[in-house]
Amino acid sequence: MAFEAARPTSPPLVGLAKRHLGNLGRRDFVAGAALIDGRWVDGDKGDAVLDPATGDVIAEVARCSAADMNHAIDAADRSFAEWRGLLPERRGAILRSWASLMLAHSEELAVLVTSEQGKPLAEARSEISYGAGFLQWFAAEGERAYGETIPSHKPGSVLQVRMQPLGVAAAITPWNFPVAMITRKAGAALAAGCPVVVKPAPETPLCALALARLAQEAGVPRGVFQVLVGNPVELSAPLLQDARVRALSFTGSTEVGRLLLEGAARTVKKVSLELGGHAPFIVFDDVELDKAVKGAMAAKFATSGQDCLAANRIYVQTGIYNAFVEKFAAAITRLKVGHGLDAATDIGPMTKSSVADKCRAQINEAATKGAQVTSASGDESLGRNFVLPTLLSDVTDDMLIASEETFGPVAAVLPFNCEEEVLARANASEMGLAAYVYTDSLRRALRVSESIEYGMVGINTASFTGPPIPFGGWKQSGLGREGSRHGIQEYMELKYVCFGDLVD
Ligand code: NAD
Repeated sequence: MAFEAARPTSPPLVGLAKRHLGNLGRRDFVAGAALIDGRWVDGDKGDAVLDPATGDVIAEVARCSAADMNHAIDAADRSFAEWRGLLPERRGAILRSWASLMLAHSEELAVLVTSEQGKPLAEARSEISYGAGFLQWFAAEGERAYGETIPSHKPGSVLQVRMQPLGVAAAITPWNFPVAMITRKAGAALAAGCPVVVKPAPETPLCALALARLAQEAGVPRGVFQVLVGNPVELSAPLLQDARVRALSFTGSTEVGRLLLEGAARTVKKVSLELGGHAPFIVFDDVELDKAVKGAMAAKFATSGQDCLAANRIYVQTGIYNAFVEKFAAAITRLKVGHGLDAATDIGPMTKSSVADKCRAQINEAATKGAQVTSASGDESLGRNFVLPTLLSDVTDDMLIASEETFGPVAAVLPFNCEEEVLARANASEMGLAAYVYTDSLRRALRVSESIEYGMVGINTASFTGPPIPFGGWKQSGLGREGSRHGIQEYMELKYVCFGDLVD
């Protein structure tokens, strides 16, 4: 890989991305490169970044090698002493500047998100402010990473617990939130005093590289925040093998999460995992129907369904089942499918065609087993990555969609009779990320929220994420928490110090 003093030139932009990105100030956001040890580097071979809606190549990025990754780990390790040595308020100030730059360039970043990820522009804009919020949140959390003083059990002793940064942290991030999943991890790690090496998803490298440019402009020192794009297996191997990488944070599929957990065991790293979801969305028959339908629309179709919080099993009590299905179907058929840069679009393309294929397979399988299928009207010829928003009603527990995460705009509705039954069905999953409960009864809400085996529970709401909350799952949905006061702990070691012999 050749190091270049100047930033490499941008490849030609095409399609809608050209119209939108070409007019914006930051053309350097689409220059293909990696940031290693404070320098922008260019590889010999580039990988194409595609607009998932059209298949157009919007940019090419350098493909980094395992040797580049080793170089980045060396640089991160070298930068650790200086970064951890800064006062927390200085690290916080740099994180705040980075957040301000993200907000100042929100429009360019949002267009980039939509261009390579596909989500509607309004959602992309929200992702930028959501993502910047993690930097602001952790800027403050770093200043409050308190230890403890323990009432001593030994005469003449003072017992202290200190929180100290772990060392180099690795972040392997997904394509569904290509900005926020980086800042949620990096904000916590950097605030704790740890340098971070990011390996973004190959589908969405431009957002990661744009964040790296802004981090540099904000004053993050060389080696402290690095981004390397390339083959996931080749680039993750050095991260797993190198004992200097002390923390690994991953968001993505449960399958890859298991592999990384195994790989990290050899050097006993601190691992945090945000993996798949399979959220139950439970609607009891005492609710106001319109509110429940609105909640189900938001919980199912945000990010075009490509969201680990997405409602995957919508259980509706039999008393209101038919009325709910009718209203929900009407709302779904109103959704507009199209390019995310088109202002009328509600549902963009799937970022990966494998996700669209999985949606179609689930619809077909459910239909053959007797589910009712209602789809939004739309142009099927938009392309392979598009899935028309679809309602599957009368879904039964033996259908694939009842046990397998969809990650697309397909809503499965299942009838249920009573609380005990629906709780058992909701909990009968290997996943345990998010659950939603709609009821007007406070006693029932308290009971169900106590018994449901999920890490995050929304009662009468589909919107509950943000920097202050501990994001994470139970069971095979993951390990550890991101955001909140807990998120920074994933990057810190606890040290117990006993001062003895204090009495002469
Ligand atoms: P994935 O797990 O393969 O990809 C996520 C990240 O892991 C990417 O950065 C990818 O490059 C990296 N990766 C993939 N294989 C790897 C390996 N062997 N070693 C190291 N890194 C590796 O996810 P996917 O295939 O892109 O999507 C499949 C499914 O995963 C989705 O349908 C969805 O169910 C789930 N997913 C969940 C989230 C989430 O937010 N929890 C995000 C993305 C995908």
